[in-house]
Amino acid sequence: DVFEYAPAPESRAIVQLAPSYGLFIDGEFRESSDGKVFKTVAPASEEVLAEVAQGSAKDVDAAVRAARAAFPKWSALPGAERAKYLFRIARVLQERSRELAVLESLDNGKPIRETRDADLPQVAANFFYFAGWADKLPHAGYGPDPRPLGVAGQVIPWNFPLLMLAWKIAPALATGNTVVLKPAETTPLSALFFADICRQAELPPGVVNIVTGDGPVGAELVAHEGVDKVAFTGSTAVGKSIARTVAGTAKKLTLELGGKGANIVFDDAPIDQAVEGIVSGIYFNGGQVCCAGSRLLVQESVAEEVLDALKRRISTLRVGDPLDKNTDIGAINSAAQLARITELADAGEAEGAERWSPHCELPSSGYWFAPTVFTHVTQAHRIAREEIFGPVLSVLTFRTPDEAVAKANNTPYGLSAGVWTEKGSRILRMAQQLRAGVVWSNTFNKFDPTSPFGGYQESGYGREGGRHGLEAYLDV
Ligand code: NAD
Repeated sequence: DVFEYAPAPESRAIVQLAPSYGLFIDGEFRESSDGKVFKTVAPASEEVLAEVAQGSAKDVDAAVRAARAAFPKWSALPGAERAKYLFRIARVLQERSRELAVLESLDNGKPIRETRDADLPQVAANFFYFAGWADKLPHAGYGPDPRPLGVAGQVIPWNFPLLMLAWKIAPALATGNTVVLKPAETTPLSALFFADICRQAELPPGVVNIVTGDGPVGAELVAHEGVDKVAFTGSTAVGKSIARTVAGTAKKLTLELGGKGANIVFDDAPIDQAVEGIVSGIYFNGGQVCCAGSRLLVQESVAEEVLDALKRRISTLRVGDPLDKNTDIGAINSAAQLARITELADAGEAEGAERWSPHCELPSSGYWFAPTVFTHVTQAHRIAREEIFGPVLSVLTFRTPDEAVAKANNTPYGLSAGVWTEKGSRILRMAQQLRAGVVWSNTFNKFDPTSPFGGYQESGYGREGGRHGLEAYLDV
């Protein structure tokens, strides 16, 4: 169980990092207007990976102007021509997927098994999928001449840096919009590598612009008067502040915010399969997932059996070097995020819940949190109500399906839920009753570009993915 940080040199060498990276504006990399930079670190080792330009208000303005200037030509291209660029980007993403997977694991801290087998395949799949729409929009029920909105200002979080970028940029470009995107400050690198891929695919300058920096840079972008559409993924608090900024303007807005997903296990569920689903629900990406199954609701009659099996399974998880192919749980993305998880887990203990983790020794450098399970949790506990965004599972029990629905819905959020049962009729009834934008049955965290994704209530509004995802970028 003892883990020592030992970088895997062979895979690390796949990524050639420059000492510094610039903003990507109008098809070119450039320094920020005031020369400011910030450092991005590997969360597993605290190694400084590179210096990155900190965008200024002037840079945001230059990026929006470049996107505006590119819009008339880009939007006037026949859909089939736009599709060619998107297909080209998708193919280059596939060709460079090993390199991008290692880069993403380095900068984010998530295991290479995830970036290689989940993030990167989904990133390419989104570009292929939306490329396929570009020439079919006139036949898709949006009228003969569906109009793009103009310049999209997009702000994304750090938990799936490249996949969130793909969810935002692919539908925007397919529908004829141009883009200014701001990646999260702790994971800027893959977006800048993506900018390089846009150049490789010969995307016209100005169609995609990337401005790196912190929250205030995002605030500049969403407030810029040259932006027609704002798309945000991140915390509910920032989502609300963006909604206030956009109120009183003609900008369109979609918000993908936080969640407190319930994974509901009935007594007739295949227990082994459910345990795998519970584990992937809360430990995939270290629980730093908006749709994580962070609350386990288990039927009382099988609670003991499920918990025993769950703890045995968790004890086999390997926490450690994100670049090691055997790693199940990598590093927490930042010191700030680690502090937030620690604070909430400590609150769980202080409020009387019972805390359990397998034996695991965590390294002294980097940001680490052991997989954790809380039992004896009540609905009033903070760990049952607040999004922890870490590898911490809160377990509650129920007796009847109605009680399960009531507990699952007892949250201001409404993003995801999982239902484990052999009864098809029960799955359908639960799917109707659960207030969640996505309900999985007998699986969890499954994604597909054809499927719309998004929340109810404080999890936001609008959908990404599928044909519903196109509507966020079109005037019909
Ligand atoms: P965050 O809201 O702090 O940051 C997200 C992004 O917004 C970053 O790029 C940040 O720089 C930027 N930002 C910060 N303040 C801003 C402001 N005032 N104006 C404009 N932009 C600003 O969130 P985070 O901690 O980086 O990410 C975790 C949160 O994201 C969690 O709550 C999680 O549930 C949510 N999330 C949701 C989804 C979804 O699809 N619903 C997906 C991933 C993450």
